[in-house]
Amino acid sequence: MKWSLQVARLAGIPIRVHASFLLLLAWVAYAHYRRDPDLRGVGLAVLFLCLVFAVVVLHELSHALTARAYGIRTREITLWPIGGISHLERMPEQPAQEFWIAVAGPLLNVALALLLGALVVATRGAEGLVVADFEHDLLASLVWVNAALAVFNLLPAFPMDGGRILRALLSMALGRVAATQVAAGVGRAMAILFALIGLAVNPFLLLIALFVWLGGSAEVSHAELRAALSGHPVAHAMTRALATLPADAPLGQAARLLVHRGQRIVPLLGPAGLEGVLCERDLLRGLARGGLEAPAKQFARRRLPAVSPRTPLLEAFELLGRRRAPCLLVEEEGRLLGVLTREGIGHFVSVLSALRGEPPPLELGNQDALGGGHEGFGPSPASAEGAGPDRRAPPVTRL
Ligand SMILES: [Zn+2]
Repeated sequence: MKWSLQVARLAGIPIRVHASFLLLLAWVAYAHYRRDPDLRGVGLAVLFLCLVFAVVVLHELSHALTARAYGIRTREITLWPIGGISHLERMPEQPAQEFWIAVAGPLLNVALALLLGALVVATRGAEGLVVADFEHDLLASLVWVNAALAVFNLLPAFPMDGGRILRALLSMALGRVAATQVAAGVGRAMAILFALIGLAVNPFLLLIALFVWLGGSAEVSHAELRAALSGHPVAHAMTRALATLPADAPLGQAARLLVHRGQRIVPLLGPAGLEGVLCERDLLRGLARGGLEAPAKQFARRRLPAVSPRTPLLEAFELLGRRRAPCLLVEEEGRLLGVLTREGIGHFVSVLSALRGEPPPLELGNQDALGGGHEGFGPSPASAEGAGPDRRAPPVTRL
């Protein structure tokens, strides 16, 4: 994640803070100082915000560790001013697993609220829970912060936690695609509500409304895409007729293939077989550094993930996202038959949609975002980054 700084590593998961979060800290300190130039108060206000975000980290970790129990890795947890995001490698297809991953975050907040609440009542009695000033009564404040986080995250604003719980439950009866469409519809209604309240009360809600609206649309295209790909083998979407170049060819020859034939991936063959694969990005980098005469092999990739033409297309699509590879090699008995690219998958899905009389789906972009993650908003929303092939809204699973 650009513009973010790793501040810790918990349970093997990097915890990163986005630069805009530091701006929020600075803004809180400044706003507090303008109101009351007492430095101790300013320090307490900043400390309170940091504690809130520590709770958000715990919320995200609880999603991430539940996902880990189902064999799903979390690439990182990032803190943004509007919450935390756990970047899960993918969302599980099984509704029960999605349910437990989504519910784990709010459940942790409920548990923390009860635990801290009991501590306050035990030491100060029930009236200890009444908070007059958030910054000067940190423990009791955290009880309410956790309660608010639990309630907010459980709102059915897909792809926030509550929306994911709704989708998981609906999936059991309706199937994944229909459940996602219904959950996203409910989510859009919630987004409109957030936006209206945001205009009147808190501009942060406008950002959350935008996230819910775009995130829901990306999730719908992702679910539709997965449904379209399932049941097909890689052979149906792979690119076969690729021109190859000798391993000692200069970059200029690869550039000609790109310009005249639109070929964005060039295998380099030597006496022993495949010696490297030059992708468009490598070619452009090579041209900028070494010009047309530079050896293509110097900028080629030696290793790319390989699949068989019989590999399920959906599995290969997930591999592309997980490995962040520009393409997959399609091989049989050590022989290169072709490549599988996002572009090729996009064309295949467009043809399928046209045959069904549906409008063409959004093109699969070249971003590395494909693959799915699970992100969660903390202080406000939490959702999961679902890997969606959508140029407009990079798919993100947030919880
Ligand atoms: Zn969450």
